[in-house]
Amino acid sequence: MTIRRIIVIPDPRLKQPSAPVEAVTDEIRQLADDMLETMYDAPGIGLAAVQIGVMKRILVLDVSREGEDKRPMVFINPQIVWSSEETSTYEEGCLSIPEYYEEVERPARVRVRYVDLDGKAQEIEADGLLATCLQHEIDHLDGILFLDHLSKLKRDRVMKKFSKVARREAAG
Ligand SMILES: [Zn+2]
Repeated sequence: MTIRRIIVIPDPRLKQPSAPVEAVTDEIRQLADDMLETMYDAPGIGLAAVQIGVMKRILVLDVSREGEDKRPMVFINPQIVWSSEETSTYEEGCLSIPEYYEEVERPARVRVRYVDLDGKAQEIEADGLLATCLQHEIDHLDGILFLDHLSKLKRDRVMKKFSKVARREAAG
């Protein structure tokens, strides 16, 4: 397993949609392992492949609480097939937008169809933090950031701040 470098805004790849995985090969399983290791190291509770610069529809999650056993989950080609009318609000953060947190309202429950590491089709119904995390990560596969759910004013302010940092790093 290898810890990969996480890309941050304004990297243009974060705004691009990822391509479906054609077949679950050893290479894909290796990628999922690397993603989990990278996520735990960060540390974070979710990571989409695009965040390490791989434009494939894979995401990993672990929403277990501190002190509980680790519960790594891998979703390949995930798709939301149903979402509840009822919503819930969580303070979200993103490994690609370091040290920025803001409340986002999303459907409280979702049903997600996906392919597992054995290449089998699966479906899961999620609520709570898992539902929010799945929606946040699936958004990444479509080039959508949690910033895109905020007001334009907030979004512009964050993008400006990170663009300034990127320019400074490029110059220095
Ligand atoms: Zn994110």
